[in-house]
Amino acid sequence: MIDADFMTQLQRLTSLLHQDDESTPPSATTPLTSPSTAAEATEVLLLGAELTELVSALGRYGFNLAHHVAVDDIPARYWHHNTTIVTCAHHLEPAATWNTAQARRCRQKKAPIICIGADDDFDARYRLAELGASGLFTLPVEIPGLAERIEQLNREQQQAQAARVLLLDDDEELAEHYRLVLTTAGMNVRVMTRPAALLSTLAEFRPDIVLMDINMAPYSGVTLARMIRFEPQWLSLPIIYLSSEQDRDQQLSALAQGADEFITKPISDQQLIRTVRILYYRARQLSKLVSCDGLTGLLNHTHIKQALSHEFSRVQRLGHSTTVAMLDLDHFKQINDNHGHAIGDQVIKALANLLHKRLRITDHLGRYGGEEFVAILPDCDLSQAKTMFEQICRHFAALSFNGSEHKFGVTVSVGLADLNQFISAEHALNAADEALYQRKHQGRNGVSCYYLPTLPVDNG
Ligand code: GH3
Ligand code: MG
Ligand code: MG
Repeated sequence: MIDADFMTQLQRLTSLLHQDDESTPPSATTPLTSPSTAAEATEVLLLGAELTELVSALGRYGFNLAHHVAVDDIPARYWHHNTTIVTCAHHLEPAATWNTAQARRCRQKKAPIICIGADDDFDARYRLAELGASGLFTLPVEIPGLAERIEQLNREQQQAQAARVLLLDDDEELAEHYRLVLTTAGMNVRVMTRPAALLSTLAEFRPDIVLMDINMAPYSGVTLARMIRFEPQWLSLPIIYLSSEQDRDQQLSALAQGADEFITKPISDQQLIRTVRILYYRARQLSKLVSCDGLTGLLNHTHIKQALSHEFSRVQRLGHSTTVAMLDLDHFKQINDNHGHAIGDQVIKALANLLHKRLRITDHLGRYGGEEFVAILPDCDLSQAKTMFEQICRHFAALSFNGSEHKFGVTVSVGLADLNQFISAEHALNAADEALYQRKHQGRNGVSCYYLPTLPVDNG
């Protein structure tokens, strides 16, 4: 039973073991990520001689890029769902080389495909959708938008993989079979054959979805579903009944009592995987609507503040160094004034994407308001965070945006504070804001840290 606190402690131990490694200076190829479990770079495969120009443009966004002119040149390791493929529309047509055995295998693995095309009419779009594309960008390609779409597709793929499923069935053999099927599909599955520990398992495992047998004598799945809904935090948790009940009326009356879907046993492995995926995806979309900011997909103001107070309690218990960062785009009003609000929005999204990519999965990232962001980095002290955000600032400043008349660049300022040093989350956030304010006065485009004022020594 691994919870977040345990992981934090484990990471601290691991970092102690690797302290010697950390003292070696970073090489030019060191990834621009925060210490320990950094998210892996998104893999992008550009296919087609026409896309040479995109290589350097997309390269600035930190993707792990490969460019191949012909399908047959592509190494087999790229044919998996974690690679996003960018190609020209004509490469997808059946007559093209795309239909070689390798490429067909890729289609089966469902790597998302983004097309670059000249035609933008209804027929062209329909044809691309028919050929399995997930997006279309017309020429000249709007690079920040393309980078954003690649990130979004990658995130969706990863999330679909990572569903946490709680499976409750008193038939041990069947439960084991379902566990195997769903685990093989990349899901994280916990099996329970007796419901007595249901509530504590929910609290500890925090599933995204529950699969529940209806008849577990002396218990009824329908009653258990109602019991789960006693807790407001589980009101939107998707519950799927597993049952051999064929009668639709019976099914509907069971559903009316607190579950979302009905799977009739026996079910094929593929049907099981698809049903779980669909419900999981829908539930995620809903919860994202509630907790995420519409423009960037990051946590919204309320939820990043919640995450901060949660981290504050953990820091109180565990005492590890956690950094709070407040970021604000420089002279952003001028960007809007010179290039329009829509282009301003692209800049906000580009920074959100860069941050999302650079931070670890265990970090929290939110849009605090307008052009301000808050990041929380558990197990990362001020000096580590400073080095990382300085890299982010340099990287962001190097990005080039297409303005109304000319290309332009934007910079960002960052203020940091150590969450451990404050009596509340609010105080730490104010300190990060104060450090940011200092940075704005010291020339912007960089990082300032808040250090507690040292008390004068009392000699009396
Ligand atoms: P400073 O370097 O001191 O931070 O200057 P600034 O111009 O960035 O700061 P200021 O607070 O004066 O302006 C922030 C601007 O951000 C004003 C507002 O119109 C713009 N803004 C806020 N939210 C959004 C948004 O969602 N989209 C766009 N395009 N602009 C936004
Ligand atoms: Mg501001
Ligand atoms: Mg600003």
